[in-house]
Amino acid sequence: MSPRRTKIVATIGPSSSSPEQLDALVAAGMDAARLNLSHGTHDDHSARAALVREAEERAGRPLALIGDLQGPKLRVGDLSVPLQLEQGDEITVVVGLNGNPGELPIAPAAIGEVLRPGHEVLIDDGLVRLQVEEVGSGRARCGVLVGGPVSSHKGVNLPGVPIPIPSLTRKDLEDLEFALGLGCDFIALSFVRAAADVRDLKALLEQEGSNAHVIAKIEKSEAVDVLEDVLAETDAVMVARGDLGVEIGPELVPLVQKRIISRALERGKPVITATQMLESMIHHPEPTRAEASDVANAILDGTSAVMLSGETAVGEYPVQAVRTMDRIARAVEPSLGYRHQIPEATEDPTIGNAMSNAACDLAEALGASAILVPTFTGRTASAVARLRPRRPIVALTHKRWSVHQMAIEWGVTPLWIPECKDVEDLWNRSIDAAKESGLVEAGDTIVITAGTAVNIPGSTNVIKVDVA
Ligand code: ATP
Ligand code: MG
Ligand code: MG
Repeated sequence: MSPRRTKIVATIGPSSSSPEQLDALVAAGMDAARLNLSHGTHDDHSARAALVREAEERAGRPLALIGDLQGPKLRVGDLSVPLQLEQGDEITVVVGLNGNPGELPIAPAAIGEVLRPGHEVLIDDGLVRLQVEEVGSGRARCGVLVGGPVSSHKGVNLPGVPIPIPSLTRKDLEDLEFALGLGCDFIALSFVRAAADVRDLKALLEQEGSNAHVIAKIEKSEAVDVLEDVLAETDAVMVARGDLGVEIGPELVPLVQKRIISRALERGKPVITATQMLESMIHHPEPTRAEASDVANAILDGTSAVMLSGETAVGEYPVQAVRTMDRIARAVEPSLGYRHQIPEATEDPTIGNAMSNAACDLAEALGASAILVPTFTGRTASAVARLRPRRPIVALTHKRWSVHQMAIEWGVTPLWIPECKDVEDLWNRSIDAAKESGLVEAGDTIVITAGTAVNIPGSTNVIKVDVA
């Protein structure tokens, strides 16, 4: 079977934490495992990370491990019993983790400085809505606009209200250290508000000597406003539709999704479309038609990867959910055109981009069975993937972290090869590895790129047509 081009990210949680379940997820097509550090303990996450690496080993196929930081997320504090709020009720919000019975604590306490009469307080992805009527010290009397149950630790959003919390909270810094210790290939940063948020995280990664890449989660209107600046800084992005929909309203999510995907594609940076893709599969073995259409549309928009959240973390049918995404992707991908609606590069054409264009054109014209792309950091493979060629892209690198990171890139099959001494050696080893993987057979025409100065990032300057 030819490789699926769109990649699948699955959030690992209580429903997907045994070796058997992970093997089944990998067999169904999971390409990346996401650990959401907002939930669960470090012990749970270490155990899961170890199981993911073991499943990867057994499958012999690289998986990316993504550590997702909570960021400056507001949450309901500790409630001894859930509150049942009715429309028209009044409820007192207190700042911090704890309140008296009948009060609604919201953490962290710093939000006490910004709450004003008229502000809307949205709880649990906006399912429950309050409006602030009067503020006192550390408390706010609110009217209930839309009622519902409220339990401990549910998310809280204050759309349009600047939150006086740094983008990397103390918890995030601890979680970052922990995630790097687990060997995460990507760190996802929640609630990015400015390019500087990404820059700060990248500086920390560099300080730690880490090769982990940053995924900027676009889920605040501030981030949508400065999308180009964020994209320039980050390695990859996520259309984080859950909080995005609460912050800007669900009606604006579809077009913002298309814009984020198209801008990420222009820059050749991987983009993940996330949240509620197959939400009903948390409890049902089949998706709704609307969900199938949503996954298909994200693929038609050009997303690099689609993501499962609750479906695989806490759902009843995690393996079916991955299988469903795989089936939808395979059904839709044949209708994706080569360079399908891909805008031209906005930046000055680099040699790398021009070489990637030419390699794809050659592969199309010759009906080559694959485009082989030796790469150091994965950038050259991304530059080829950006063009969405019909031919499989086989990326070859001697960097283990790069193999893992390319697992989320559209259309790319990453393979590890040893470090090569010269370009002939690199070509031979690349062709051997592609043959060994079964993607290329002896006698096939292939197109292969390379830099005549091997192992120097950004030095691709030769394209060769060869017979495997
Ligand atoms: P984010 O905004 O970062 O996506 P989230 O709260 O929406 O955070 P998801 O990772 O999208 O969380 O997962 C969806 C739901 O699955 C969560 O609300 C949570 O109830 C559950 N979940 C996810 N991971 C875990 C976990 N490790 N342990 C327990 N529950 C989890
Ligand atoms: Mg979110
Ligand atoms: Mg979510």
